[in-house]
Amino acid sequence: MPCNDAQLLEVFSSIQGEAELVGYRQIFIRLAGCNLHCAYCDTDYSLREHCRVEDAPGSGQFRGIANPVSLEVIASLVSAWVDASPGMHHSISLTGGEPLLQAPVLLNWAPVLREILPLHLETNGTCAAALEPLVPHLDMISMDVKLSSVTGVATPWKLHRAFLEIASRTKVCVKAVVGEETPVEEMIDLGRMVRQMSPDTSVYLQPVTQQGKIGMSSNHLLCLQAAVAKQHANVRVVPQMHVFMNLL
Ligand code: SF4
Repeated sequence: MPCNDAQLLEVFSSIQGEAELVGYRQIFIRLAGCNLHCAYCDTDYSLREHCRVEDAPGSGQFRGIANPVSLEVIASLVSAWVDASPGMHHSISLTGGEPLLQAPVLLNWAPVLREILPLHLETNGTCAAALEPLVPHLDMISMDVKLSSVTGVATPWKLHRAFLEIASRTKVCVKAVVGEETPVEEMIDLGRMVRQMSPDTSVYLQPVTQQGKIGMSSNHLLCLQAAVAKQHANVRVVPQMHVFMNLL
């Protein structure tokens, strides 16, 4: 596959529903593939023949374009949307799956896309080496911390620490999905890691969503917030807002 072409899942316009940029309208470019297998994952990130692309921003009507998708195709699509409605979109969100699995392509894409709109990367925070050359081209990183209490596999603390150290060279926020099973000890580890690796970074606790509702008790959620705050005061609780707005 040429280095200018990416395996994509979908391209659409919507409202960012998570973490620091919540409420902003973005153009989402969702890349295929992931290196993790979180128990709560709701994204089918497998590679496919066609990527679905929204016909016009907010139309909810999609057409298929063949994978892999070239930089020329994606840049002209995004430019056309921005030219048609200047100011409507805050930024472009590179999301997944795990976008950094296609980091060599993104390294070519990022300078071109960033000429059109600021660039936001949503990532599971485990691919530090892939991130490093890309950091100068990113305006914002939303990094997930994958807690074992909700993913069902051991928290990759070492990978997260290395990632956060590099991500802190630009603006970064840390998000962790939490649930009823999440122990206070995980929150202590989370708060301590962010305080040590990137003290200016905000932490967002995202209560797990189940069938469109918050899937945990408010009492436990408040306990978890307090445990992070003891280590790192800059912590907020924000659920997945796009779910409540019935948006993609
Ligand atoms: S990192 Fe994200 S896309 Fe990958 S398995 Fe976990 S929730 Fe799904």
